[in-house]
Amino acid sequence: MKKNQLEIALQRLTPLTDRDPRLEQYPTPADIAADMLWEAFGAGDVEGRDVVDLGSGNGVFCIGAKLLGARRSVGVEVDPGAVTVAKENATAARVDVEFVEGDVASATGTFDTAIQNPPFGAQTRHADRAFIKKALELAPATYSLHLDGTQDFVSSMVQALGGRCRPVKRYKFEIPYAFEFHRKPSETVLVILFKFER
Ligand code: SAH
Repeated sequence: MKKNQLEIALQRLTPLTDRDPRLEQYPTPADIAADMLWEAFGAGDVEGRDVVDLGSGNGVFCIGAKLLGARRSVGVEVDPGAVTVAKENATAARVDVEFVEGDVASATGTFDTAIQNPPFGAQTRHADRAFIKKALELAPATYSLHLDGTQDFVSSMVQALGGRCRPVKRYKFEIPYAFEFHRKPSETVLVILFKFER
């Protein structure tokens, strides 16, 4: 599969409706998700690997990983409605992905790669903490998306947990605001893709 085919496949996935503001369900746009997966694929972290997607939302990363030849792909998501959408998306994309409904903090298993777009922490400060900790625990390589300006927080947390952390890329990320406390229809924020290794 070529990168643009991946992007088209991800674009076709059904997005989440009824997003829950407390869970900061900011979907990763298909072009950014495809680019992140392509980055991981190029580093040998997807094909033939066991991949976990923490906070899988509509399944964009775990489905994309499977489309790129992951051996096993698992999505962990606390919102049951999102799990239903993601399962339907995996079926429509004709890939075999496992979904675990529950909090990332209680996820278990052994994986080669974690990929995630954790809550940015706008609602609950450092809501991404549990995701960083769990990703390092589950996999030796992690691709993780964070708000620009959080580099110091992210890298000191990864180092404190015995890992290494480096910024890979920056993206302009559009958040479509479906939430009543947002006054604008959408907002573009700068985000950083980090790779953690342990
Ligand atoms: N991976 C998807 C969704 C990102 S938004 C994408 O990139 O488009 C973050 C996701 O994490 C949401 O689906 C939200 O419901 C989920 N989430 C938030 N806190 C969680 C927790 N503690 N445990 C599991 N999932 C959580």
